[in-house]
Amino acid sequence: MDEPRLKLAVQKSGRLTEPCHDLLARCGLQFTRGRDQLIGYGENMPFDLLFVRDDDIPDLVQEDVCDLGLVGLNVLEERRLELAALGQACRFTSLRSLDFGRCRLALAVPEGFPWEGPASLAGRRIATTYPFMLLRYLRERSIQAEVVTLSGAVEIAPRLGRADVVCDLVSTGSTLQAHHLREVDTVLESHAVLIRTPLPLPPQKAEWVERLLLRIDGVQQVRGSKYIMLHAPRSALAEIRRLLPGSESPTVLQLEGVSDRVAVHAVCRENVFWETLESLKKAGASALLVLPVEKMLA
Ligand code: ATP
Ligand code: ZN
Repeated sequence: MDEPRLKLAVQKSGRLTEPCHDLLARCGLQFTRGRDQLIGYGENMPFDLLFVRDDDIPDLVQEDVCDLGLVGLNVLEERRLELAALGQACRFTSLRSLDFGRCRLALAVPEGFPWEGPASLAGRRIATTYPFMLLRYLRERSIQAEVVTLSGAVEIAPRLGRADVVCDLVSTGSTLQAHHLREVDTVLESHAVLIRTPLPLPPQKAEWVERLLLRIDGVQQVRGSKYIMLHAPRSALAEIRRLLPGSESPTVLQLEGVSDRVAVHAVCRENVFWETLESLKKAGASALLVLPVEKMLA
């Protein structure tokens, strides 16, 4: 019998597309795109990708059309609150927080707006594509304001006279700046999330999900991790250990023909900066080498 295949929903084209493909490639998944460009067939793992709009991903997963989905927490949280307003529970389960798609849903005011804290929003019109999260923010602070729900181009709403304030997704802040808006508060900190269907998976599928999760954990661990090698006098070992950023116990090897010098190898779970190398050198280290880590399995 054919192995059952997992369906994984990913954004078709947008900010999450490239980082999602990168993550899956690092997890070892190779796929070919169907002629309709809507499905990617996993060649070496039993996963098929469905390329869809990000807003459709929570429902595709909770209605069990797809087994898994990669989507922003902002989209998930908004859908969860929308369902709650309809008296329905959301049924997808979050499996992993991912280290990309970082952004925040933020409130921003035009230059010259008298912002003195959330209370300054009282009686104002706030434009957003995330009305449910904004309403929760206002409700939690007992603020009465008008929520203007738009489908896009939120940042130009004040200039068009449609709103006084905006509540929009921000990553660097440069879009806000270009529209003469000043960020004043955060409604939600967001990142990409891997979600799964609420229904139990047959054993073979469940096993592949577990394997994928282990690989995702491995990928996320090595991003930014470095492998460092150096020579040092044995007497400097304690100081060198202290200087190595985020490393577990390093491997110490005796150098051939030299009694008081050793080679130290360690995985550092943080980036190794020039400053660290300089401090290590000062502590007596030499022949310093920093290498990227490609894969890690705990
Ligand atoms: P779609 O056509 O799939 O509906 P979209 O226009 O809604 O696409 P994108 O702008 O591609 O969505 O953003 C997708 C996700 O990327 C967002 O929901 C959010 O989780 C994340 N993201 C990261 N940084 C930003 C940012 N600066 N602005 C908007 N979204 C961001
Ligand atoms: Zn969208």
